[in-house]
Amino acid sequence: MNNTSIKDWVANIVKPEQIKKYMENGRDFINEDRINDLLQSKKQPDKNEVREVIAKSLELNRLELEETAVLLNCTDEEIWQEMYEVGLKIKQKVYGRRIVIFAPLYISNHCVNSCVYCGYRKENKDSVRYQLNMNELQKEIEALVSKGHKRLILVYGEHPSSDVHYIADTLKVAYETKLDNGEIRRCNINAAPMSIEDLEILKEVGIGTFQVFQETYHHQTYRRLHPRGIKADYHWRLYALHRSMEAGVDDVGIGALFGLYDWKFEVMGLLSHAIDLEKHFGGVGPHTISFPRLEPAVNTPFIEKTSYKVNDDIFKKLVTVIRLAVPYTGMILTARENAAVRREVIQVGCTQIDAGSNIAIGGYSKGDPVHNRQQFILGDNRSLDETIRDLADIGYITSFCTAGYRCGRTGNYFMDIAKQGKVHNLCMPNAILTFKEYLKDYASAETREIGERLIAKEISALPNEPVKAKVEKFLQQIDAGDRDLYL
Ligand code: SAM
Ligand code: SF4
Repeated sequence: MNNTSIKDWVANIVKPEQIKKYMENGRDFINEDRINDLLQSKKQPDKNEVREVIAKSLELNRLELEETAVLLNCTDEEIWQEMYEVGLKIKQKVYGRRIVIFAPLYISNHCVNSCVYCGYRKENKDSVRYQLNMNELQKEIEALVSKGHKRLILVYGEHPSSDVHYIADTLKVAYETKLDNGEIRRCNINAAPMSIEDLEILKEVGIGTFQVFQETYHHQTYRRLHPRGIKADYHWRLYALHRSMEAGVDDVGIGALFGLYDWKFEVMGLLSHAIDLEKHFGGVGPHTISFPRLEPAVNTPFIEKTSYKVNDDIFKKLVTVIRLAVPYTGMILTARENAAVRREVIQVGCTQIDAGSNIAIGGYSKGDPVHNRQQFILGDNRSLDETIRDLADIGYITSFCTAGYRCGRTGNYFMDIAKQGKVHNLCMPNAILTFKEYLKDYASAETREIGERLIAKEISALPNEPVKAKVEKFLQQIDAGDRDLYL
């Protein structure tokens, strides 16, 4: 593709009429003055004020911005300990002792954008560019399926060579590839913002969650860090998930990249985003929130220079506040973090992690990570089996469940069942069934032993006798060779 046709493609992506309709009097929903005022006026809240907010979260109510500012400004370590405990309680109430596992699959790193923190930015001459063809993609999928993966997040740079039609083709290949008992049952996507029409194409081919991270909600910082390219348009990105909901792709994932601007501001930005989605789409907010921290990348000096880096202590605090602010939203913790941080942060409210991850393009089938095709360096390189065993050791069932999505239990429906506490009678049993499949087909002997013990414990804890009987029957069927059984 020559430079003129790339330029033409770039010039036609943004559809201003698909942005303006969501704005009010020309203003977006990130009200910086209000956020700053709240963060200033709620400085050093007293214990009782913080405890009142914590109590509201424990009742599984979504917090308002004022209340979240109170939590963010807490300076009392004793109260933070209470918040950590409540974070875990909320997670147990809504999700039970299960963690959803997925793998990231980087498909193409050609990019027309210039995000100063990303190794894939257009100007980075040290980044080796690569885009998988459909045969190579199939090999990657087979490598992932052979380890036991069922859920993926597919990641792409923004470029005409990886436009919506290419993305749709990759989704088809991912779903069509089968290996022994295994297959990918859900593909989420992390890609550039799209138009409503393009999102409808992805809906047709069975996209799972559509993720777009705003990176930073702070307007001026956003402009500075995205100087050129399509991504320079803050509003095209800010309303990407509104368009997604409108297109009927109603599981959406928001996120902020921590390390670009003040962490408290970004948490307030994430919450403002969740509230605005709820406002426009009948009370349904984002399905997931991601909170990646900036990682070193090849030839990307910005990362050493930023003064907003978030240390491990602050990271745990910000994850906890998000958990308390939006009790029903899934929270994704990636292998950018090392194993020790992940163990700690899972206990304050995360619901999904990746495992056995390799973010080099072609890295799963070729094995050897090709460093300069990687976007950044991962902190947790444990295998899927090891991660699952470690989780089982601390009492977590690994869920590969995708039933909810395939039964249409998405968006509004999922929020309703979560709000009625029915997750325990649906999601926990389904998690047990997918965990059992993994143990039968892919686990090491050691993981199988720990896992079977945990399944026995979780079955005895199921609150509903008919559900328990059904799960026990399905488990016998899985032992006999049946697969993909769900409630
Ligand atoms: N190109 C699409 C986009 O920008 O939305 C999707 C792919 S991009 C590689 C996915 C995410 O990677 C970005 O949204 C950003 O948050 C994250 N990212 C970029 N550079 C990073 C870095 N140095 N460390 C950690 N995460 C990074
Ligand atoms: Fe491209 Fe996404 Fe990296 Fe920005 S973050 S340079 S858009 S791949």
